[in-house]
Amino acid sequence: MGFYRPLLEKVLFPVLEAAHGRPTVPLLQFLRGSERWSLDALRDLQAGLLRRLIRHAAVHTVYYRKLLDERGMHADDIRDASDLCHLPLLDREAARETLESRTADEPRWVIEHAASALTGAPVVKYNAESRHWRDATRWRAYRPAPASWLARVGRALDRRLMRDLHIDCVVRSERALEQAASELAAFRPEVMVAYAAGASALARYINDHGLRSWRDIPVIIAAERLWPHDRTQIAQAFGPVFETYGCSEVMLIGAECEIHDGLHTSMENLIVELIVREPGGAVRAARPGEVGEVAITDLHNLACPMIRYVTGEVAIARAETRCPCGRGLAMIGPIDGRISEALYDRGDEIPLTSTGWRKVVTVESAADRIAMLA
Ligand SMILES: [Zn+2]
Repeated sequence: MGFYRPLLEKVLFPVLEAAHGRPTVPLLQFLRGSERWSLDALRDLQAGLLRRLIRHAAVHTVYYRKLLDERGMHADDIRDASDLCHLPLLDREAARETLESRTADEPRWVIEHAASALTGAPVVKYNAESRHWRDATRWRAYRPAPASWLARVGRALDRRLMRDLHIDCVVRSERALEQAASELAAFRPEVMVAYAAGASALARYINDHGLRSWRDIPVIIAAERLWPHDRTQIAQAFGPVFETYGCSEVMLIGAECEIHDGLHTSMENLIVELIVREPGGAVRAARPGEVGEVAITDLHNLACPMIRYVTGEVAIARAETRCPCGRGLAMIGPIDGRISEALYDRGDEIPLTSTGWRKVVTVESAADRIAMLA
Protein backbone atom coordinates (compact mmCIF):
# COMPACT_ATOMS: atom_id res chain seq x y z
CA MET A 1 0.00 0.00 0.00
CA GLY A 2 2.78 2.36 0.96
CA PHE A 3 4.39 2.09 -2.41
CA TYR A 4 1.43 2.62 -4.67
CA ARG A 5 0.44 6.13 -3.64
CA PRO A 6 3.75 7.91 -4.38
CA LEU A 7 4.07 5.90 -7.55
CA LEU A 8 0.61 6.98 -8.62
CA GLU A 9 1.40 10.63 -8.06
CA LYS A 10 4.85 10.71 -9.60
CA VAL A 11 4.68 8.20 -12.42
CA LEU A 12 1.34 6.63 -13.14
CA PHE A 13 -0.86 9.67 -13.00
CA PRO A 14 1.04 11.62 -15.68
CA VAL A 15 1.12 8.53 -17.84
CA LEU A 16 -2.59 7.87 -17.44
CA GLU A 17 -3.30 11.52 -18.12
CA ALA A 18 -1.39 11.29 -21.36
CA ALA A 19 -3.73 8.57 -22.62
CA HIS A 20 -5.25 10.97 -25.08
CA GLY A 21 -1.88 11.41 -26.74
CA ARG A 22 0.63 8.70 -27.60
CA PRO A 23 2.06 7.63 -24.26
CA THR A 24 3.55 4.35 -25.44
CA VAL A 25 7.11 5.63 -25.26
CA PRO A 26 6.97 6.94 -21.67
CA LEU A 27 5.05 3.81 -20.74
CA LEU A 28 7.71 1.61 -22.27
CA GLN A 29 10.40 3.51 -20.38
CA PHE A 30 8.41 3.00 -17.19
CA LEU A 31 8.04 -0.73 -17.91
CA ARG A 32 11.77 -1.13 -18.55
CA GLY A 33 12.32 0.07 -15.01
CA SER A 34 9.41 -1.63 -13.29
CA GLU A 35 10.31 -5.09 -14.62
CA ARG A 36 13.31 -4.98 -12.30
CA TRP A 37 11.41 -4.01 -9.17
CA SER A 38 11.05 -6.52 -6.37
CA LEU A 39 8.13 -8.91 -6.60
CA ASP A 40 6.64 -7.21 -3.52
CA ALA A 41 6.74 -3.79 -5.19
CA LEU A 42 5.14 -5.21 -8.34
CA ARG A 43 2.43 -6.88 -6.27
CA ASP A 44 1.85 -3.57 -4.49
CA LEU A 45 1.40 -1.86 -7.85
CA GLN A 46 -1.06 -4.56 -8.89
CA ALA A 47 -3.04 -4.16 -5.68
CA GLY A 48 -3.39 -0.42 -6.23
CA LEU A 49 -4.45 -0.86 -9.84
CA LEU A 50 -6.85 -3.63 -8.83
CA ARG A 51 -8.54 -1.43 -6.23
CA ARG A 52 -8.91 1.28 -8.85
CA LEU A 53 -10.37 -1.22 -11.34
CA ILE A 54 -12.88 -2.62 -8.87
CA ARG A 55 -13.86 0.83 -7.59
CA HIS A 56 -14.44 1.92 -11.17
CA ALA A 57 -16.33 -1.26 -12.15
CA ALA A 58 -18.61 -0.93 -9.10
CA VAL A 59 -19.60 2.59 -10.06
CA HIS A 60 -19.71 2.34 -13.83
CA THR A 61 -20.90 -1.18 -14.72
CA VAL A 62 -24.20 -2.86 -13.96
CA TYR A 63 -22.63 -6.31 -13.70
CA TYR A 64 -19.94 -5.55 -11.15
CA ARG A 65 -22.11 -3.18 -9.13
CA LYS A 66 -24.60 -5.99 -8.57
CA LEU A 67 -21.88 -8.57 -7.94
CA LEU A 68 -20.09 -6.48 -5.33
CA ASP A 69 -23.35 -5.44 -3.68
CA GLU A 70 -24.41 -9.06 -3.37
CA ARG A 71 -21.12 -9.95 -1.74
CA GLY A 72 -21.00 -6.84 0.41
CA MET A 73 -17.59 -6.10 -1.05
CA HIS A 74 -15.85 -2.79 -1.55
CA ALA A 75 -12.67 -1.94 -3.46
CA ASP A 76 -10.99 -0.93 -0.22
CA ASP A 77 -11.37 -4.53 1.00
CA ILE A 78 -8.76 -5.53 -1.57
CA ARG A 79 -5.36 -5.77 0.11
CA ASP A 80 -3.60 -7.64 -2.68
CA ALA A 81 -4.24 -9.75 -5.75
CA SER A 82 -5.00 -12.82 -3.65
CA ASP A 83 -8.26 -11.11 -2.60
CA LEU A 84 -9.50 -11.78 -6.12
CA CYS A 85 -10.51 -15.17 -4.73
CA HIS A 86 -13.62 -13.45 -3.31
CA LEU A 87 -14.85 -12.76 -6.84
CA PRO A 88 -16.17 -15.39 -9.27
CA LEU A 89 -14.34 -16.60 -12.36
CA LEU A 90 -15.48 -15.22 -15.69
CA ASP A 91 -15.64 -18.10 -18.16
CA ARG A 92 -15.93 -17.45 -21.87
CA GLU A 93 -19.62 -18.14 -21.89
CA ALA A 94 -20.18 -15.76 -18.99
CA ALA A 95 -18.02 -13.17 -20.75
CA ARG A 96 -20.27 -13.43 -23.79
CA GLU A 97 -23.46 -13.22 -21.79
CA THR A 98 -22.36 -10.28 -19.66
CA LEU A 99 -20.78 -8.17 -22.38
CA GLU A 100 -23.40 -5.47 -22.17
CA SER A 101 -23.68 -5.36 -18.40
CA ARG A 102 -19.88 -5.26 -18.04
CA THR A 103 -19.58 -2.35 -20.47
CA ALA A 104 -18.97 0.83 -18.47
CA ASP A 105 -20.80 4.08 -19.06
CA GLU A 106 -17.33 5.63 -19.09
CA PRO A 107 -14.65 5.68 -20.36
CA ARG A 108 -15.91 4.73 -23.74
CA TRP A 109 -14.31 1.76 -25.44
CA VAL A 110 -12.23 2.66 -28.49
CA ILE A 111 -11.35 -0.79 -29.78
CA GLU A 112 -13.63 -3.73 -30.24
CA HIS A 113 -12.55 -7.24 -31.17
CA ALA A 114 -15.16 -9.43 -32.78
CA ALA A 115 -15.96 -12.81 -31.30
CA SER A 116 -13.78 -15.55 -32.75
CA ALA A 117 -15.42 -18.63 -34.17
CA LEU A 118 -11.96 -20.21 -34.39
CA THR A 119 -11.00 -19.95 -30.74
CA GLY A 120 -14.27 -19.21 -28.98
CA ALA A 121 -12.92 -15.87 -27.75
CA PRO A 122 -15.79 -13.52 -26.90
CA VAL A 123 -16.23 -9.93 -28.04
CA VAL A 124 -13.73 -7.73 -26.22
CA LYS A 125 -13.87 -3.96 -25.87
CA TYR A 126 -11.27 -1.74 -24.32
CA ASN A 127 -10.32 1.86 -23.73
CA ALA A 128 -7.37 3.93 -24.98
CA GLU A 129 -5.42 3.50 -21.75
CA SER A 130 -5.69 -0.28 -22.02
CA ARG A 131 -4.48 -0.19 -25.59
CA HIS A 132 -1.38 1.84 -24.69
CA TRP A 133 -0.43 -0.62 -21.94
CA ARG A 134 -0.95 -3.53 -24.31
CA ASP A 135 1.29 -1.90 -26.89
CA ALA A 136 3.98 -0.99 -24.39
CA THR A 137 4.13 -4.43 -22.73
CA ARG A 138 4.44 -6.03 -26.13
CA TRP A 139 7.24 -3.69 -27.15
CA ARG A 140 9.05 -4.55 -23.97
CA ALA A 141 8.76 -8.25 -24.66
CA TYR A 142 9.96 -7.78 -28.20
CA ARG A 143 13.31 -6.60 -27.02
CA PRO A 144 14.38 -9.53 -24.91
CA ALA A 145 17.86 -10.08 -26.26
CA PRO A 146 20.94 -8.14 -25.16
CA ALA A 147 21.43 -7.22 -28.82
CA SER A 148 20.14 -3.73 -29.48
CA TRP A 149 18.07 -4.71 -32.47
CA LEU A 150 15.35 -2.23 -31.62
CA ALA A 151 17.87 0.60 -31.77
CA ARG A 152 19.06 -0.67 -35.11
CA VAL A 153 15.51 -0.92 -36.33
CA GLY A 154 15.00 2.64 -35.15
CA ARG A 155 17.97 3.87 -37.13
CA ALA A 156 16.80 1.95 -40.15
CA LEU A 157 13.43 3.63 -39.85
CA ASP A 158 15.12 6.94 -39.53
CA ARG A 159 16.79 6.33 -42.83
CA ARG A 160 13.51 5.11 -44.24
CA LEU A 161 15.11 1.82 -45.14
CA MET A 162 12.68 -0.26 -43.19
CA ARG A 163 11.01 -3.05 -45.07
CA ASP A 164 9.31 -6.18 -44.07
CA LEU A 165 9.31 -9.60 -45.51
CA HIS A 166 6.41 -11.95 -45.31
CA ILE A 167 7.09 -15.57 -45.94
CA ASP A 168 4.00 -17.62 -46.36
CA CYS A 169 4.53 -21.03 -44.85
CA VAL A 170 1.31 -22.74 -45.80
CA VAL A 171 3.05 -24.50 -48.68
CA ARG A 172 5.96 -26.50 -47.35
CA SER A 173 7.17 -28.23 -50.49
CA GLU A 174 10.92 -28.52 -51.10
CA ARG A 175 10.67 -25.75 -53.64
CA ALA A 176 8.73 -23.41 -51.37
CA LEU A 177 11.16 -23.98 -48.50
CA GLU A 178 14.17 -23.52 -50.76
CA GLN A 179 12.77 -20.24 -51.98
CA ALA A 180 11.96 -19.10 -48.45
CA ALA A 181 15.52 -19.87 -47.33
CA SER A 182 17.04 -17.89 -50.17
CA GLU A 183 14.70 -14.95 -49.59
CA LEU A 184 15.71 -14.97 -45.96
CA ALA A 185 19.41 -15.07 -46.82
CA ALA A 186 18.99 -12.08 -49.12
CA PHE A 187 16.81 -10.13 -46.71
CA ARG A 188 18.91 -10.57 -43.52
CA PRO A 189 16.18 -9.74 -40.99
CA GLU A 190 16.97 -8.17 -37.63
CA VAL A 191 14.40 -10.25 -35.86
CA MET A 192 11.88 -12.86 -36.83
CA VAL A 193 8.35 -13.08 -35.48
CA ALA A 194 6.98 -16.50 -36.24
CA TYR A 195 4.47 -19.19 -35.62
CA ALA A 196 6.11 -22.26 -34.15
CA ALA A 197 5.08 -24.78 -36.81
CA GLY A 198 6.07 -22.61 -39.77
CA ALA A 199 9.39 -21.58 -38.24
CA SER A 200 10.32 -25.13 -37.35
CA ALA A 201 9.50 -26.44 -40.84
CA LEU A 202 11.77 -23.85 -42.40
CA ALA A 203 14.41 -24.38 -39.72
CA ARG A 204 14.51 -28.10 -40.43
CA TYR A 205 14.98 -27.50 -44.12
CA ILE A 206 17.78 -25.00 -43.48
CA ASN A 207 19.52 -27.32 -41.02
CA ASP A 208 19.17 -30.41 -43.19
CA HIS A 209 20.66 -28.61 -46.19
CA GLY A 210 23.31 -26.61 -44.30
CA LEU A 211 21.91 -23.32 -45.60
CA ARG A 212 22.52 -21.05 -42.62
CA SER A 213 24.68 -18.15 -43.75
CA TRP A 214 23.65 -15.49 -41.22
CA ARG A 215 24.56 -14.40 -37.74
CA ASP A 216 22.03 -14.91 -34.94
CA ILE A 217 18.52 -13.72 -35.70
CA PRO A 218 16.37 -13.61 -32.54
CA VAL A 219 13.12 -15.49 -33.14
CA ILE A 220 9.99 -14.47 -31.26
CA ILE A 221 7.39 -17.19 -31.26
CA ALA A 222 4.11 -15.32 -31.21
CA ALA A 223 1.58 -18.11 -30.99
CA GLU A 224 1.21 -21.87 -30.90
CA ARG A 225 2.89 -24.22 -28.54
CA LEU A 226 6.65 -24.37 -28.93
CA TRP A 227 7.85 -27.95 -28.55
CA PRO A 228 11.42 -28.55 -27.30
CA HIS A 229 12.52 -30.33 -30.50
CA ASP A 230 11.20 -27.43 -32.59
CA ARG A 231 13.02 -24.95 -30.38
CA THR A 232 16.27 -26.81 -30.94
CA GLN A 233 15.82 -26.75 -34.70
CA ILE A 234 14.83 -23.07 -34.77
CA ALA A 235 17.77 -22.05 -32.55
CA GLN A 236 20.18 -23.95 -34.78
CA ALA A 237 18.80 -22.44 -37.98
CA PHE A 238 18.29 -18.85 -36.86
CA GLY A 239 19.33 -17.89 -33.33
CA PRO A 240 17.95 -17.50 -29.81
CA VAL A 241 14.27 -18.33 -29.45
CA PHE A 242 11.90 -16.30 -27.28
CA GLU A 243 8.53 -17.80 -26.58
CA THR A 244 5.63 -15.45 -25.91
CA TYR A 245 2.11 -16.19 -24.79
CA GLY A 246 -0.96 -14.07 -25.26
CA CYS A 247 -4.53 -14.08 -26.44
CA SER A 248 -6.62 -11.63 -28.39
CA GLU A 249 -8.66 -10.72 -25.28
CA VAL A 250 -5.74 -9.20 -23.39
CA MET A 251 -2.79 -9.51 -25.80
CA LEU A 252 0.58 -10.33 -24.28
CA ILE A 253 0.34 -12.38 -21.10
CA GLY A 254 3.90 -13.60 -20.73
CA ALA A 255 7.25 -13.54 -22.49
CA GLU A 256 10.45 -15.49 -22.17
CA CYS A 257 13.69 -13.72 -21.23
CA GLU A 258 17.28 -14.51 -22.15
CA ILE A 259 17.43 -17.22 -19.46
CA HIS A 260 14.87 -19.23 -21.48
CA ASP A 261 13.23 -20.83 -18.46
CA GLY A 262 9.54 -19.93 -18.18
CA LEU A 263 7.67 -16.78 -19.11
CA HIS A 264 7.63 -13.49 -17.21
CA THR A 265 4.05 -12.26 -16.87
CA SER A 266 3.03 -8.71 -17.79
CA MET A 267 2.38 -7.84 -14.13
CA GLU A 268 1.92 -4.10 -14.63
CA ASN A 269 -0.89 -4.74 -17.10
CA LEU A 270 -2.47 -7.97 -15.90
CA ILE A 271 -2.93 -10.17 -12.89
CA VAL A 272 -2.27 -13.70 -14.09
CA GLU A 273 -3.69 -16.44 -11.89
CA LEU A 274 -3.26 -20.16 -12.40
CA ILE A 275 -6.24 -21.78 -10.77
CA VAL A 276 -7.43 -25.27 -9.98
CA ARG A 277 -11.13 -26.10 -9.70
CA GLU A 278 -11.68 -28.70 -7.04
CA PRO A 279 -14.32 -31.41 -7.57
CA GLY A 280 -16.67 -29.70 -5.07
CA GLY A 281 -16.51 -26.45 -7.04
CA ALA A 282 -13.98 -24.65 -4.84
CA VAL A 283 -11.27 -22.74 -6.67
CA ARG A 284 -7.69 -22.49 -5.41
CA ALA A 285 -4.35 -21.30 -6.73
CA ALA A 286 -2.22 -23.92 -8.45
CA ARG A 287 0.85 -24.96 -6.46
CA PRO A 288 4.36 -24.73 -7.90
CA GLY A 289 4.78 -27.49 -10.47
CA GLU A 290 1.06 -27.98 -10.78
CA VAL A 291 -0.95 -27.28 -13.93
CA GLY A 292 -3.60 -24.57 -13.57
CA GLU A 293 -6.13 -22.82 -15.77
CA VAL A 294 -5.03 -19.35 -16.79
CA ALA A 295 -7.30 -16.60 -15.39
CA ILE A 296 -6.60 -12.98 -16.26
CA THR A 297 -7.59 -9.69 -14.68
CA ASP A 298 -6.98 -6.83 -17.08
CA LEU A 299 -5.91 -3.93 -14.86
CA HIS A 300 -6.29 -1.16 -17.40
CA ASN A 301 -9.48 -2.12 -19.20
CA LEU A 302 -11.95 0.21 -17.55
CA ALA A 303 -14.30 0.32 -20.55
CA CYS A 304 -15.37 -3.32 -20.24
CA PRO A 305 -13.69 -4.84 -17.19
CA MET A 306 -12.55 -8.46 -17.33
CA ILE A 307 -11.87 -9.77 -13.87
CA ARG A 308 -10.67 -13.37 -13.49
CA TYR A 309 -11.35 -14.14 -17.14
CA VAL A 310 -10.55 -17.79 -17.87
CA THR A 311 -8.70 -17.94 -21.20
CA GLY A 312 -9.19 -21.65 -21.81
CA GLU A 313 -5.49 -22.46 -21.64
CA VAL A 314 -3.48 -24.14 -18.93
CA ALA A 315 0.05 -23.45 -17.69
CA ILE A 316 2.41 -24.79 -15.07
CA ALA A 317 2.70 -22.74 -11.87
CA ARG A 318 6.18 -21.84 -10.66
CA ALA A 319 7.76 -21.09 -7.31
CA GLU A 320 8.39 -17.45 -6.46
CA THR A 321 12.09 -17.34 -7.09
CA ARG A 322 13.69 -14.37 -8.75
CA CYS A 323 14.84 -15.07 -12.28
CA PRO A 324 18.63 -14.83 -12.79
CA CYS A 325 17.97 -12.24 -15.52
CA GLY A 326 17.18 -9.72 -12.76
CA ARG A 327 13.54 -9.15 -13.64
CA GLY A 328 11.14 -9.27 -10.73
CA LEU A 329 8.11 -10.15 -12.85
CA ALA A 330 6.40 -13.33 -11.65
CA MET A 331 6.76 -16.35 -13.90
CA ILE A 332 4.56 -19.05 -15.34
CA GLY A 333 5.06 -21.81 -17.81
CA PRO A 334 5.59 -23.64 -19.85
CA ILE A 335 2.20 -23.05 -21.38
CA ASP A 336 0.47 -26.33 -21.96
CA GLY A 337 -1.95 -25.90 -24.81
CA ARG A 338 -2.96 -22.69 -26.44
CA ILE A 339 -5.12 -21.19 -29.08
CA SER A 340 -3.66 -20.58 -32.48
CA GLU A 341 -4.91 -17.24 -33.58
CA ALA A 342 -3.12 -14.19 -34.92
CA LEU A 343 -2.42 -12.11 -31.85
CA TYR A 344 -1.40 -8.90 -33.46
CA ASP A 345 -3.74 -8.57 -36.35
CA ARG A 346 -6.05 -5.79 -35.34
CA GLY A 347 -4.50 -2.51 -36.24
CA ASP A 348 -1.46 -2.93 -34.05
CA GLU A 349 2.02 -2.11 -35.09
CA ILE A 350 3.22 -5.60 -35.78
CA PRO A 351 0.73 -7.28 -38.03
CA LEU A 352 0.97 -10.99 -38.47
CA THR A 353 -1.02 -13.47 -40.35
CA SER A 354 -1.79 -16.93 -39.15
CA THR A 355 0.43 -18.38 -41.83
CA GLY A 356 3.75 -16.64 -41.70
CA TRP A 357 6.09 -14.09 -40.25
CA ARG A 358 7.34 -10.65 -40.96
CA LYS A 359 10.35 -8.64 -40.23
CA VAL A 360 9.25 -6.68 -37.22
CA VAL A 361 7.90 -3.16 -37.43
CA THR A 362 6.05 -2.57 -40.59
CA VAL A 363 3.86 0.48 -40.39
CA GLU A 364 4.66 4.13 -40.23
CA SER A 365 2.73 4.81 -37.04
CA ALA A 366 5.34 2.87 -35.09
CA ALA A 367 8.21 4.78 -36.64
CA ASP A 368 8.05 7.84 -34.43
CA ARG A 369 7.93 5.82 -31.26
CA ILE A 370 10.83 3.62 -32.24
CA ALA A 371 12.92 6.50 -33.54
CA MET A 372 12.56 8.15 -30.16
CA LEU A 373 13.96 5.08 -28.49
CA ALA A 374 16.89 4.62 -30.83
ZN1 LIG B 1 14.11 -13.73 -16.61
